[in-house]
Amino acid sequence: MPKRDLMETLADEIKACRKCGLWRQRKNAVPGEGNLNVAVMLIGEAPGYWEDVKGRPFVGAAGKILDEMLSKAGISRSDVYITNVVKCRPPENRDPRTSEIETCTPYLDRQIRIIKPKFVVTLGRHAASYILTKAGFETEGITKVHGKVYETNILGFEAFIIPMYHPAAALYNAKYRNELDKDFQLLKLRLKRYK
Ligand code: URA
Ligand code: SF4
Repeated sequence: MPKRDLMETLADEIKACRKCGLWRQRKNAVPGEGNLNVAVMLIGEAPGYWEDVKGRPFVGAAGKILDEMLSKAGISRSDVYITNVVKCRPPENRDPRTSEIETCTPYLDRQIRIIKPKFVVTLGRHAASYILTKAGFETEGITKVHGKVYETNILGFEAFIIPMYHPAAALYNAKYRNELDKDFQLLKLRLKRYK
């Protein structure tokens, strides 16, 4: 089946999903969006208020920061695919629970397999911990792992994992903003080398 069909089927499943309790308070599930033939896949944590309202990833305040970082790195939204570890908004934007992550991530795994991105960029500690564990790395704190490039096999293909801070952390903290900026510049360099 073509990638687009596989992804559409998957998105329909996600929109109808009731596998964990998060479906109860959602307005919209947020499957993810972007170009399916891309080198870069960005993985955030979970939809927030505006993402839940619109059914699209990173369209609120954190999304603005993300757009800014991408544009400074010369990357447009159409050059990436964006999704989250869990697809429905946790109430009051609380952290997703371990059980919710376990229940939801088979969807993420399927998305990764469909896209097979060269670069898997994780945003925030939940995405970093899920993806690095999956690739067989020991999880360390996000302060330690962000900005490193892990060359690895994930879900059966070769990719580079680059963990980064969550854009929401950069909203009110200049230090995180700086680090995020640097990490996106690193991605820019790596992309150039790879192309
Ligand atoms: N924060 C996330 O982790 N994901 C979104 O889609 C929006 C905000
Ligand atoms: Fe289903 Fe994931 Fe939404 Fe839970 S968060 S209801 S597992 S799509």
